[in-house]
Formats: sequence, C-alpha cells, structure tokens
Amino acid sequence: MNIGRVLFNYIADCWFRRKFRLFLRGHRHISVFIFDIDNTIAHTYPSLRQTFTSEKQRHLTLEAFPKMQQLTRAIADSPSRTLIFLTARSYKMCGSTLEWLRQNQFPADASNVIIVPSAADKIKYAEMAVSEVSRVWLVDDMSYNHENGAVKFYEKEIELLLKMPLKYIGYQTIVRFQNKHL
Ligand SMILES: [Mg+2]
Repeated sequence: MNIGRVLFNYIADCWFRRKFRLFLRGHRHISVFIFDIDNTIAHTYPSLRQTFTSEKQRHLTLEAFPKMQQLTRAIADSPSRTLIFLTARSYKMCGSTLEWLRQNQFPADASNVIIVPSAADKIKYAEMAVSEVSRVWLVDDMSYNHENGAVKFYEKEIELLLKMPLKYIGYQTIVRFQNKHL
C-alpha cells in the first residue's frame, strides 16, 4: 500500500466534500445545476483514441460543445440559478480541469469545480445536494466506452439518480442538446 497516495486521496476527498457542502449552503434558496464535464460539456471520447504527451495535455485540448458553453453561462447569469461542475477524474487533474473550463469560457472558478475518483462517487454528491438544497438538477451523460464503438452506461448509478428527488438530465437529452441547431 502506498501510504502517501492513500493520505493524499483521503485529504483531497475531505477537501472536495467540504467545498461542495459550503457551495450548497451558499446557494440554498436557488436552483443548483450540477454539470458533468466529460462527454457532457466536453467532446472527450475521441481523445481517448489519440496519443498525447500527458493526461494534462489531453484534457487541455478537449473540444467544448458550444451549446453547453451557452447553456452554462445562461445558468450562471440567472439570479435564481447557479451551477457547479462535478467530474470523475484523477485528483491530480484539478488544475488542468479548471484551466480548460476557463479557457473555454465556462463559468468556473476555484469554488465550483469538484473532482471525484469515479462515477459511483457522484452518487454521494447527489445525495449531499438533495439533503441541502430543494431544487437540484444533475446534467450527466453517465456513459462510457464510446471510443470502442459501443456506448455503455453506468446503469446502477442512473437507477439510483432516478429515485432521488432531483431532475436528472441524461445521455439522450444531452446529445440532442449538444447537436441542436438554433
Ligand atoms: Mg461524462
């Protein structure tokens, strides 16, 4: 067991949970939108078939979906709504994740970007959100394996989300919206 890594992950987990809770408590009376990044606002899966010098480089060169840039900015500009980004990535990608969001004009700063180790961990965050805030939206494709030609879904997690008192916007709606022509 790598004690250093275990400790680092534990501290990062505590830090992000605290940040999320503080964010929720600061926005109790408005609608909170939780946005996934990969394959929701970023066209991630083609990058998984390409070669990059580093994981940071791969993240920084992802293409953003213009409709998602517009939607997230509209939410951030609305006085009755706010948003937070929730992504399953390595904790080490925290800096490059924020850098990519800002480079692509997404309404992100150090207070509204949360990293979790896996899709399953997002469920704990969704539970935290509904326990603190009455109007929660979760926009997350919850899909994987596109790069291998067969889209798969985190079915167990989707099933849990559908039972929660929140509005879940999933893959089909996200893809329709990404490709919508005004
Ligand atoms: Mg995703």
